[in-house]
Amino acid sequence: MNSPPKIGVVSCSGEGCVEGTLSRVATRLVLERLRPDNTVTICLPLFLTGEKGERMFAKYFPTIAVDGCEKKCAEKAIEKYSGKTAHSIVVINLLNEWYVEKPGSRRNLDEKGMKVASRIADEVVAVIDDLFKSGKWRRHANI
Ligand code: SF4
Repeated sequence: MNSPPKIGVVSCSGEGCVEGTLSRVATRLVLERLRPDNTVTICLPLFLTGEKGERMFAKYFPTIAVDGCEKKCAEKAIEKYSGKTAHSIVVINLLNEWYVEKPGSRRNLDEKGMKVASRIADEVVAVIDDLFKSGKWRRHANI
């Protein structure tokens, strides 16, 4: 039996600001709870060290970059070393669009912060579903 197609969801490392925390938590929610059978990820720091397996991954799977801010570290790294991303999500832009205040702490998201992360995760899921439904994911996958 064929395994289901996979989409790479890659968060920026974002340790220094709450938007980065939101991008990491939202990505984990997608990978672990919302679309575990259709998603995979890579470790961005390892990818940046030049690890071959990680770089091949982004060449062969469509990827969605989930970045905390406009610096778009994940998107830029993937596009520089591996290939064009299928989609890019920038957390700070979503917060502005939704008129949502940033959670206070970047270390631990409180209940409100988790709700925001969950909303961001839903956005990622909508992109995944659209890539599959429209068949666009094939354009980004070297299959
Ligand atoms: S995209 Fe922004 S939040 Fe994420 S790692 Fe880069 S600078 Fe930090």
